[in-house]
Amino acid sequence: MYDLLCEGCGHRSAMMLLDEIIQEKKIKEKTILALDVACCSLLIDFVEYDSIMCAHGRVLDVTKGYKEMKKDNVVISYMGDGAAYSIGIEEMIHSARRNDDALTIVINNGLYSMTGGQVAPTYIDSSNLGFKIEEIISNFSITYLARAALSDKENINIAKQYISTAFDKYMEKGGFSLVELLSPCPTNYKLSPKDAANMINEKITKVYKIGEFVNA
Ligand code: SF4
Repeated sequence: MYDLLCEGCGHRSAMMLLDEIIQEKKIKEKTILALDVACCSLLIDFVEYDSIMCAHGRVLDVTKGYKEMKKDNVVISYMGDGAAYSIGIEEMIHSARRNDDALTIVINNGLYSMTGGQVAPTYIDSSNLGFKIEEIISNFSITYLARAALSDKENINIAKQYISTAFDKYMEKGGFSLVELLSPCPTNYKLSPKDAANMINEKITKVYKIGEFVNA
């Protein structure tokens, strides 16, 4: 269903995990996927639940308004790292600071992939140390914060566990939940899918630690 995406793309794994979790929790009828502008927005015609296309970096504002009007819905705020931590960093910080009811998925591949691979704040090289959201929002009164990698079967299983926990927290307790997913972008890395996934495991996870940072 997500063949529009490049082979080995992390968005594909992320969307398949969302599909599985929504099916397992039997919440398809009340789920809304709010998408930012990125490669993920190509998916809007393919998801089997309702969806909203948002302006770049403004997903959390849109979903805050939506959730206040439709309290029973499960509203997923899905965005890339450029949207989450650059153009949308103001929305991110204030949504977390207010502990808004938000179920947030951030795809971290270090790049603005859809527009050709310009570096995002999360990019790491000898002069860029990366951008770690846990250093900014962990001390706020948020509900859940975790990071996983979409790089191999074992890590994808961990990702599913974290996303599923975020869903449960969001539905049972409310408040701000975020799962960041380290995601391969083989096309812009100019690597094979296997080598892109290996780079996540061997290089990226050394800087961006996997685990749960907040579980309130
Ligand atoms: S350019 Fe990168 S992020 Fe976009 S679909 Fe291709 S692999 Fe995925």
